[in-house]
Amino acid sequence: MACVSYPYAAPVSQTLFDRAAVVTPGGVNSPVRAFRAVGGTPRFMVSGDGPYLTDADGREYVDLVCSWGPMILGHSHPEVIAAVQAAVAHGTSFGTPGEGEVELAEEIVARVAPVEQVRLVSSGTEATMSAIRLARGFTGRSKVIKFAGCYHGHVDALLAAAGSGVATFGLPDTPGVTGAQAGETLVLPYNDLEAVRAAFVAHPGEIACVITEASPGNMGVVPPLPGFNAGLKQLCADHGALYISDEVMTGFRVSRAGWYGLDGVEPDLMTFGKVMGGGFPAAAFGGRADVMGRLAPAGPVYQAGTLSGNPVATAAGVAQLRLLDDAAYAKVDTASERLRAMVTEALAKEGVDHRVQVAGNMFSVFFTGDEVTDYEKAKAQEAFRFTAFFHSMLSQGVYLPPSAFESWFVSTAHDERALERVAAALPGAARAAAEATE
Ligand code: PLP
Repeated sequence: MACVSYPYAAPVSQTLFDRAAVVTPGGVNSPVRAFRAVGGTPRFMVSGDGPYLTDADGREYVDLVCSWGPMILGHSHPEVIAAVQAAVAHGTSFGTPGEGEVELAEEIVARVAPVEQVRLVSSGTEATMSAIRLARGFTGRSKVIKFAGCYHGHVDALLAAAGSGVATFGLPDTPGVTGAQAGETLVLPYNDLEAVRAAFVAHPGEIACVITEASPGNMGVVPPLPGFNAGLKQLCADHGALYISDEVMTGFRVSRAGWYGLDGVEPDLMTFGKVMGGGFPAAAFGGRADVMGRLAPAGPVYQAGTLSGNPVATAAGVAQLRLLDDAAYAKVDTASERLRAMVTEALAKEGVDHRVQVAGNMFSVFFTGDEVTDYEKAKAQEAFRFTAFFHSMLSQGVYLPPSAFESWFVSTAHDERALERVAAALPGAARAAAEATE
């Protein structure tokens, strides 16, 4: 175990965590929040303002998690809050169609050319689950190709060699997922087109779709090698399968049109979440009109949701997306670039082997000297150095994702003052990483 001590206390958070552990498994409602990969007390946050979060002990942090991606305008953006307040004043859920849903769908279709039609849901998990069902219904085939280290939510069939929390805990599999549910999933190494080609040859006429993170962020940031996504698209087209690009994390974050806006490879179906909900539970899947037209009630593939297109969530999403113009993305890109340079400088100064890997304005730091192109290489990093680095940053008021296998996120609100606070914390954290032992 790393010989790191955590002298700083968070007594109110600890008390809340103790209470939570009585009534909630592990004290949290999503596993990575529990800090198990890094140890210590998870911070219970009480408020957010721009690039800052304040915890229950009254301590302020520069937030480099941004709610795992959604808060691209920073916390409590006044225009998003105003839109939410206006929507709430009219009621919170009607279970009928509403104009906000149309506006959000139009905004998505206008931004992402391959999306001709879109269906709103409440979480990224629901989006990928529904896209897979639709691909199977459309093609009449059952098998799905996914890549090791890619996370698509906790869909049964996709919890095989998944990233994010599954990577964090090194779980090879999840009890509760049956052989029948995962048995139709072929898990292949990321960035390996030959493996995909071989799978299509081995299973002629059986593969419904390939699902991939547009640019993976759930094993840390591991971008596709040049030509990988285009190769997937071509192989799918050659073999009558659908190419599904999961943009839950990258969508509307790395550009106006997400990763598609950067690489231009046209998926048959896409999934979205996070940024498009403005901090509320809103997600979506969409794509080719002939495929989407197979969904109920237009077609026979069933999919539904009591809170789908919720008026408060759609108001937040529309407000956030409309504020995300070119100038906003330029701001996020600049903050990301500045941070990356600062991290590299601090770690290099202490002689710590590392790689900062980048996908648009998303990035993560691998504690290894080698380029990381797949999940096996991601797992080979010295994660114990991240633990020391993380706790040093936390103790100095910088909130990083509590796992070495996650992307860092910034927002338009990460201004000079916030970046300077991170810069001040980095030398100590880099030293802690250098001194850490397994
Ligand atoms: N797909 C990707 C690429 C994700 O990063 C995530 C969540 O992190 C999901 C799907 C699942 O989204 P949700 O947590 O909203 O269910």
